[in-house]
Amino acid sequence: MSDTAAIENGTPIRKEFLQFCKASIGEEEINEVINTLKSGWLTTGPRCLDFEEEMKKYTKCKEAIAVNSCTAGAHILLKALNINQGDEVISTPMTFTSMVNNILHLKAKPIFSDVKETDINLDPDLLNDKITKNTKVIIATHYAGLPCDMDKINSIAKDNNLVVIEDAAHSIGSTYKGKHTGTISDAGVYSFYATKNITTGEGGMILTDNEELANKSRMLRLHGISKDAWKRYTKEGSWYYEVVDLGYKYNMTDIQAALGLVQLKKLEYFKEKRRTLVEYYKKSLADIDEVSTLKESEGTNPCWHIFPIKLDASGLKISKQEFMQALIKENIGISLHFIPLHLQPLFRNTLKTKEGDFPVAEKVYQQLISLPLYPEMTNQDIDDVANAIKKLINLYRK
Ligand SMILES: *Cc1c(COP(=O)(O)O)cnc(C)c1O
Repeated sequence: MSDTAAIENGTPIRKEFLQFCKASIGEEEINEVINTLKSGWLTTGPRCLDFEEEMKKYTKCKEAIAVNSCTAGAHILLKALNINQGDEVISTPMTFTSMVNNILHLKAKPIFSDVKETDINLDPDLLNDKITKNTKVIIATHYAGLPCDMDKINSIAKDNNLVVIEDAAHSIGSTYKGKHTGTISDAGVYSFYATKNITTGEGGMILTDNEELANKSRMLRLHGISKDAWKRYTKEGSWYYEVVDLGYKYNMTDIQAALGLVQLKKLEYFKEKRRTLVEYYKKSLADIDEVSTLKESEGTNPCWHIFPIKLDASGLKISKQEFMQALIKENIGISLHFIPLHLQPLFRNTLKTKEGDFPVAEKVYQQLISLPLYPEMTNQDIDDVANAIKKLINLYRK
């Protein structure tokens, strides 16, 4: 092990850069995309329908609606629920901005609520204080793939007549008391963005057991037209359609669905790989006092999407930010999930949020580093990450 950090011109732990994330795309996916291109039907059609059917079987949910992103799916759901000016929607500050942007797009008011230190998920004990007569929805993000405390969140929602939407962008494959995340409350949305547990390049899926919400969402997905466009051009359809609502252009293509169909078949394998890698990570990092990891709650079986560690840099001569830079120089790809939304200029300006508003989110933000995690990683890769962390801690301990 080099006794100089790469950032100070020492030799990096790895010769080649370890990517932070990498999609697992095999020959099967490539062939299915080619078959779709050759079929002559490229946009929403039979493959999207198949993908929705397979998703229903996998999740045991009654309705599945393929869309072009998780963001779009959540936008449609909020719109279908008539979220409007004057309404309040509760969200964690530790999610991706698009989920909360949706609330602003509908002229409603985002209300942030703080998280738990153990898993960075919404702290149910804080929710009651955030609920007013204007609250309509709670968006529960399953951070890193670790399921939220859904029994408590659902029960608070029930007591206050609120709808719960699960932001399951990180957590396809994760279960909570035997149920798939995304299907535990009124509705949920998956993401198939390029980095997620399974991918269609860009894409998403709405899940719900509520038929009325599903029908409305299906309509809003394609311009508010009362029939799926693809049916209009087949012999079972007709040229006639009605525009009955103000909808969006949020449909998924059959090219994307072709990818999704193959990826979904591999999800349980990906989950197992991710789990094994996380266990190896935990073992490799266990003897470092400065590093702690997130806790899985009882009754949950997560499909880990990212592997965030918490680094206590108070005993180090460098800050966590400098530590992250030094890790990159050791050729370890890293990221951070997330910069708390209430500290972003958009929300500081529109909602007048400020430092100090959500102390737990701010505390963990000072500590979090997301380490690489994807099925193609090897134990050697994890050894390199752990050795790089150990090297830097030993070099920079006060
Ligand atoms: C990726 C992500 C989204 C957005 O997903 P898209 O499919 O890119 O719209 C939403 N929430 C979380 C927590 C995410 O990580």
